[in-house]
Amino acid sequence: MTTPNLILLTAAAAMTMAASAPSGEQTLSDTDRIEKWIGKTVVVFTPHPDDDTFACGGIMKILARNKNKVHVVIYTNDNKGSLDLDMTRERLAQIRRAEEEAACEVLGISKENITWLGYEDGDLEYADPQRLRGEACRLIKKFRPDAVFTIDPGEHTVQWHKTDHRMAANITQDAFIAAEWHLYYPQHLLDEGLKPYRVPLAFYYYSTEPNYTVDITSVFEEKIRASAKHVSQFEPSLSKYTPDMSEETLKGIRDWGTKHAKEGDKFVEKFRRAVEP
Ligand SMILES: [Zn+2]
Repeated sequence: MTTPNLILLTAAAAMTMAASAPSGEQTLSDTDRIEKWIGKTVVVFTPHPDDDTFACGGIMKILARNKNKVHVVIYTNDNKGSLDLDMTRERLAQIRRAEEEAACEVLGISKENITWLGYEDGDLEYADPQRLRGEACRLIKKFRPDAVFTIDPGEHTVQWHKTDHRMAANITQDAFIAAEWHLYYPQHLLDEGLKPYRVPLAFYYYSTEPNYTVDITSVFEEKIRASAKHVSQFEPSLSKYTPDMSEETLKGIRDWGTKHAKEGDKFVEKFRRAVEP
């Protein structure tokens, strides 16, 4: 690793854990494999505007390329993660929004498909959980996804992830249950006509128990290019903001991606797949 920054370290740690976890790969027919889907709807929940790119960028690109509808729901505005003493929260939120939109554009997902819940970075665990769950629940009822991508809740999430990751993992999981029963948030049906919905399939990322491997070799370049759009997450921009990415940083991202996504002669992403989660 040539680029010493928190994002690369944390993402790499998650990928390393996933890669070294015991293999319980699911055997599925082609029609059951999400990378073969066409014309379906998928929602990716992410605590920050970058976890989705780093953990799911490959499958997001494949799904978009295959004419599926991909929605991205972002819990926080990510407005605190800068070491630049001249940075303000307001400016950083704007930068992070633009970077996420640019990353999604590389992946074939338009900014109209991004929903920002707008919580303050680092404060998700201190938000009103009932309200937060209701917002996630409402979006599930609205989008009615064939599959949801979200952080894997559990031991690893609690031990390793920061507050927003823990909360996003648990709240999304709790929203699955709330979306299934109309009496949890009856106003969704009464005010907006949003009927209850049972999420049929979940893919958990940052998982220590992956059982589903996606070959992202054909879109690996796009994943690297999308990751590189998150300029302010990487040095030297992390310490002194500049919208330009140095060649050295780009090389660091590519090296990281190559090292941690390579499995044999392929590049992969790994998830824990769960039916009726
Ligand atoms: Zn994050």
